[in-house]
This record gives sequence, C-alpha cells and structure tokens, in this order.
Amino acid sequence: MDKLKQIACKVIDDESEQLQMISNEIWQHRELAFLELKSHASLTQVLEDKGFDVERHHKLETAFVARWGDNEDESSKNNSKKPHIAVICEYDALPDIGHACGHNLIAEIGVGAGLAIKTAMQQSELSLGKLSIIGTPAEEAGGGKIDLLKAGVFDDVDVAMMSHPAPFTDARPIFLGGKRFMANFHGRASHAAGYPWEAVNALDAAVLAYMNVAALRQQMRPEWRASAIITKGGTRTNIIPDETQLALQVRAPIDSEVKALEAKVKTCVHAAATATGCTVDIVDLPKPYECLVTNETLARLYETNGSLVGVAFPPQMPKKVLGSTDMGNVSHHVPSLHPTYHCDTDAINHTHEFNAAAGSPEAQPSTLAQAKALAMVALDIFQQPQLLESIREDFQNDLNRL
Ligand SMILES: [Zn+2]
Ligand SMILES: [Zn+2]
Repeated sequence: MDKLKQIACKVIDDESEQLQMISNEIWQHRELAFLELKSHASLTQVLEDKGFDVERHHKLETAFVARWGDNEDESSKNNSKKPHIAVICEYDALPDIGHACGHNLIAEIGVGAGLAIKTAMQQSELSLGKLSIIGTPAEEAGGGKIDLLKAGVFDDVDVAMMSHPAPFTDARPIFLGGKRFMANFHGRASHAAGYPWEAVNALDAAVLAYMNVAALRQQMRPEWRASAIITKGGTRTNIIPDETQLALQVRAPIDSEVKALEAKVKTCVHAAATATGCTVDIVDLPKPYECLVTNETLARLYETNGSLVGVAFPPQMPKKVLGSTDMGNVSHHVPSLHPTYHCDTDAINHTHEFNAAAGSPEAQPSTLAQAKALAMVALDIFQQPQLLESIREDFQNDLNRL
C-alpha cells in the first residue's frame, strides 16, 4: 500500500469514534425525504470543522457541497484540468421503519472517505485535484440527485462514488431503471343493490388491471419488476365506485427494457378499461430513476483496493437485484461507482431488522472498510490522472450500449 493510502486508512481508524457518532445521530433522527434538516446540520458542521469549504442548503434545502482542493492546472499547456472527484452522502430514512436502508452508514462513509482523502492530499507534495463531498437528500422518495443534476451540481465532476449497505457485497450491483404512473379509471356510480346494472364499475377496472399485471409477470424476464397498488377503491359497499386509481411502477435493468415493460403494463390497464366499459387516463409521474451504470475501471479499482482492507467479494450467481437508486441518473451523466457491501447482517433492506443492523456497532468495521476503499480509489485517480482516460472510454462505451 502506498504512503498516501496508508495515511488515508489511518485517518479513518483515528476518526472511527466520531464517524460512528455521526452515523448514530443520523440513525436516531430518522428524517424523511427533503426533511433531513438535523442530518444536514450534523454533516455540514463536522465537514466545516475539518476544514472543508462548505456550502449549506446548496440548490435544495437539505443538500450541501463540501469542497477541498482545486482542479485548475496552471502547468498544463492545453488547459487540461486535474481530476474532480465527488464522494456522495445520502441520509434520508423511510416512514415507520427508520434507517432500514442504512443511509446513515452511507453518510458515514462519505464523511470518512472525505476526511481521509483530504488529509492524504494535504500531506502530498503535489496538488492533486479537487474533492467534493456532495450531500444528496431524498433518495428513497423524490430523487434529490435528479434535482441536483438539473441544477448543474455534477457538471464539472469527473467521477462520482458512494457505497451502499446491503445483504451482499457487489462491485457491480444491479439497480433497475424504472417508471411510475397513475391509472385513473372513470365509470358511472349506482346503488349496488337497487340498480347495479346502471353502473359502470371503476373498481372492477382497477382490480382487472391489477390482475392483468399479475398474469403478465410469468412472461417477464427474471430481473423485470411490475408493481401496483390500489390507491383509491371506493367509499361505501352500497355505492358502485365511479372513480378509482391504481399506482403502478415498472423496473428493468436497462432503459430500453423499461420502455418495453411500460408498454406491456399500459396495455394491461387499457384492456381492463375496455373490458369494464370504463375510460382511463394514465398520468406519468416525474423524475424516473435510471438504471445504474457501474464504470468498469472504477469497479476494478474498487475491488483491488477493497481487497487490501479486507473487503471480500464472493461471486454473485445469479446476480441479485436491489431496487432502484437516483444514483442511476448520476451514472448516466458522470462515470460512477456505487457498490453494495455486506454490513455484517443477513437482514434485507427496508425491514425493521435492517434498521436495527444499520444502527448497531457490528455494522461499523465493514462501513469503515468501505470508507477506506473509496478513499483509496480516489487517491489512485488523483495520483494517476491518466486513469481518467480509461474511465471515460468505459463511460462512452456504456452510453453507446444503452
Ligand atoms: Zn432504500
Ligand atoms: Zn438506499
């Protein structure tokens, strides 16, 4: 391990108690999407105390950017810039089940890696580049990163990275792209006992649409997902409902498959309307999450460095699917690294058990190892900026493939 990496790892070991404290604070706050005021305050305060140039409430109330270093290269003849690396923090929780996705640990990794990279850069004789710790709210609902992308926060970033706790470690996890839409069925109300033949039953339309999607599932590819819930299904059993609503979501590993599945599911909805004599309007919901594109050069650097600090990479056969993330949208704009890591629990995300695991001391060693691994990947890129060429080549190939 080179000298700067040794410095980085020592910083994370030395700061481990404070890092765990920040993580526990966020875990206790359990703040929902866009309401993460206390978590925002804790994270920005510690980064400012450690010498970062912090911009609070950056573009969104609970987003922030903490910067260190500079990527202008005065010695360069052709105006080329030094690398600008962004490490991403998430910190929103889920309703009722708290930090059941472990975003408190993601924030801890972001701060730990940030402190480690900054200290190593300060102790290097060379001016290595620019580091940003970007605080991104509302991953679980609302797509905070999509707003930040639109606001230009990632425009001059060369590489974005974070790490997500999960029941398994995978440098190239599958996070699905998706789309959400609402189906509003319109029929005609009538007395359910007196004049049922006068009704056009909008609840039957919603139920049939749900069942059509259920029937479709057997013919879907194994990684495709279609979900539906009835969000409006009537008020009284003696009124045949004239207005009902179904919320639907489709997901698939690449964007062209999302489109194909979306078309099939919308056909299910229209078929239900036709069968019942209802009409239907379908409203697409904004800010769809795109599939995660893991940059292969970054994934290899992560595996190499992770192995140095004890991260184990058991083969994933078959590959498991872990929902969707707004980091997918970032990964379509900036070469990205978003591994999952086993945080010493076999509980699965979005359960009470995972919430308990994310707040337990047992999650700490694996979380600190992730902070080290990300810091070392960043230091590789800062010390060998020519790595950016292969990172950009992979990125271009991925975009062409999609
Ligand atoms: Zn989640
Ligand atoms: Zn998550």
